[in-house]
Amino acid sequence: MKIIDILNQDRPTLSFEVFPPKTSDTYDSVAKATQDIAALRPDFMSVTYGAGGGTSDYTVGIAAGIQQQYGVDVLAHLTCASSTREHVAQVLENLKEKGIQNVLALRGDIPEGGAPAHDYQYAAQLVKDIKAHGDFCIGGACYPEGHLESPDLVSDIRHLKEKVDAGAQHLVSQLFFDNEDFFRFLERARIAGIDVPIEAGIMPVLSRSSIQRMVSMCGASLPRKLTRILARYGDHPAALREAGIAYAIDQISDLIAGGVEGIHLYTMNDPAVAQQIAGSLTSIRSV
Ligand code: FAD
Repeated sequence: MKIIDILNQDRPTLSFEVFPPKTSDTYDSVAKATQDIAALRPDFMSVTYGAGGGTSDYTVGIAAGIQQQYGVDVLAHLTCASSTREHVAQVLENLKEKGIQNVLALRGDIPEGGAPAHDYQYAAQLVKDIKAHGDFCIGGACYPEGHLESPDLVSDIRHLKEKVDAGAQHLVSQLFFDNEDFFRFLERARIAGIDVPIEAGIMPVLSRSSIQRMVSMCGASLPRKLTRILARYGDHPAALREAGIAYAIDQISDLIAGGVEGIHLYTMNDPAVAQQIAGSLTSIRSV
């Protein structure tokens, strides 16, 4: 099924993101974790893509496993900054063969020292290529606090609109910890004429080091409520995990109350976390 048809249903969706293994040694354990997450029957799942493209087969393999064994529709991520058009075409053929109809079109981060290939500068170009390649439903990324490289929020929204005009049919947001950032972003997007469904990306805080790494990579700001949690529980992993999951549930319930169309949960391949969060939202999602 196409993700756009799932998102157009008249209730907030809950989708899960998982990541593929980096090496073949861990393929089986990662496949097992992602399938345990699929067994929770989210509306759909997305599978990330290694930035350099060298592990693209793992993305396709994990995505196909989820879809075939659990009947959960998948959204395969695909990045282009370090890829040639030829490689992109190969991956798209691979996805088609496996019956995967949905692609999240991403630029990817530019590696230090520059990208090894130069066919693509921006995700909008990838969106156009995917559109020309077949009948895929195409998604794109968006940034409630603005993308790190954007000089200002106005140009960020302008380029986002170009990506949607190029053919992105829905958007998934970067993680954020202050819902007001997301609500303000939604308002800017709608004013700019971006009228596709936008899912809010939520990452539960499970460890101090992982959250510090994520924040330094993507520039998300930490509200005081969260810095207090990190200060108090940061050295106590079990307590931080409880507080981080509670924070994510609180964020999601407020987002749904505020009318967001969908939640995309960064599960970090942890079935217990996905289960706990999804289990706390059953009635909230049905109101
Ligand atoms: P773009 O949409 O191309 O935007 C990148 C920057 O260029 C922005 O600042 C934008 O404003 C600017 N821009 C766009 N068009 C123009 C233009 N014409 N002129 C000037 N500036 C322009 N990375 C991975 O490696 N693998 C993944 O699986 C992955 N999954 C992700 C999932 C989500 C939901 C998100 C939010 C991010 C993900 N990323 C992933 C990270 C992503 O690749 C990086 O954030 C990357 O730096 C930007 O990708 P993009 O597709 O948003 O790029």
